[in-house]
Amino acid sequence: MSISRPRGTNDFLPETTAKWQAVEALLREQCREYGFGEIRTPLFEETELFARGVGDTTDIVQKEMYTFEDHGGRSVTLRPENTASACRAYLENKLYGAVQPVKLYYLGPMFRYEKPQAGRFRQFHQFGLEIFGSESPAADAEIIAFAWDFYQRLGIRGLELKINSVGCPKCRPAYRQALQSYFHPHLDALCNSCRDRFARNPLRILDCKSEVCQQIGANAPQIYEYLCTECAEHFSSVQAMLKAAGIPYCIDSRLVRGLDYYTKTAFEIQVTGIGAQSAICGGGRYDGLIEEIGGEHIPGVGFALGMERIFSALAAQGDDIEVENHLEVYIIVAGGIEESAAAFSIANQLRQAGIATEMDYADKSFKAQMKAANRLHARYAVIIGDSEVQTQTASVKNMESGEQQAVAFADIKAYFIGR
Ligand SMILES: [Zn+2]
Ligand SMILES: [Zn+2]
Repeated sequence: MSISRPRGTNDFLPETTAKWQAVEALLREQCREYGFGEIRTPLFEETELFARGVGDTTDIVQKEMYTFEDHGGRSVTLRPENTASACRAYLENKLYGAVQPVKLYYLGPMFRYEKPQAGRFRQFHQFGLEIFGSESPAADAEIIAFAWDFYQRLGIRGLELKINSVGCPKCRPAYRQALQSYFHPHLDALCNSCRDRFARNPLRILDCKSEVCQQIGANAPQIYEYLCTECAEHFSSVQAMLKAAGIPYCIDSRLVRGLDYYTKTAFEIQVTGIGAQSAICGGGRYDGLIEEIGGEHIPGVGFALGMERIFSALAAQGDDIEVENHLEVYIIVAGGIEESAAAFSIANQLRQAGIATEMDYADKSFKAQMKAANRLHARYAVIIGDSEVQTQTASVKNMESGEQQAVAFADIKAYFIGR
């Protein structure tokens, strides 16, 4: 029986990776402009890191992690996200000793044991930003602006930015209590998950997808009456900056992040027209997270986007990433060893000069080689036969215009440079 790839994973073939590389280049360039440096953390970590850093009550930790014991008996886990690892790395490498804030980006595969379905994969790819060491609302606004800017550059239409504040450990307890008093009479009507959330995490009832829970929650108290002065000022400063930057947003009181270490800003960018999975990125502030994994109180804010989601959003609006073809020269060779050697030498010279060059190794007919040059979209064909070897002059054909020209072997590199 032949072996196939694991469920929920993909093989990315060159035609696709070329598009990914183009998007990645766009992201890296934008990171340079915004002053973010790349961090690369291990693909696996001690399981404990995610239990604490993602939250051991979350679906991710409870159901979706690839966790195994290594040969040394340690429990390790393939990273389901990258923020926890970035926090660990910040502490472990004493980045708190560097100039603050520290601005990092990451890009790579993450792993979750999810039910494979459209747009969901067990190995998927995320890009994300983290700003550590700044409490300023400007840091929140910068993260949001980056995300918004990126999707504009990509040309994704129908974007909607939703923001909210989830308060802080000072003001949230009163709000939790208000929510519990509100939901208590409806406890029996809530879905199973929400009955579970009621005691532990009533804020999460607000973003439940169940229609019944949404109906019940429609008149739930909103957090804005409960925010402490600090949180309220932070929230209005973030909004003032978004307005100043001309970034349209709406406030969505249902946008909550489940865990205690999330504080103040939460945001999501949604796109209309790609079905149920309409959020294309999300993030927020997590001033309690570094403490949660064993550090001091160091504020942080960040966001992550799914790379696969970018391509499905583009496809849904009928667009695609245009990738330029880079093959410049296809060498067509007819004859024996002498002709092949001459062709090989020219291919080498051109490649060393930075000119993408391909040639036939299969002794195909002239016609078949010309066809190959066409199929590979080569801009030029260089023809080497016995008369060309005798005169040390190649025939160079412009594949677009059909024009043909004789160029001495000695001049061929110079001929193509700068063309
Ligand atoms: Zn507060
Ligand atoms: Zn529910």
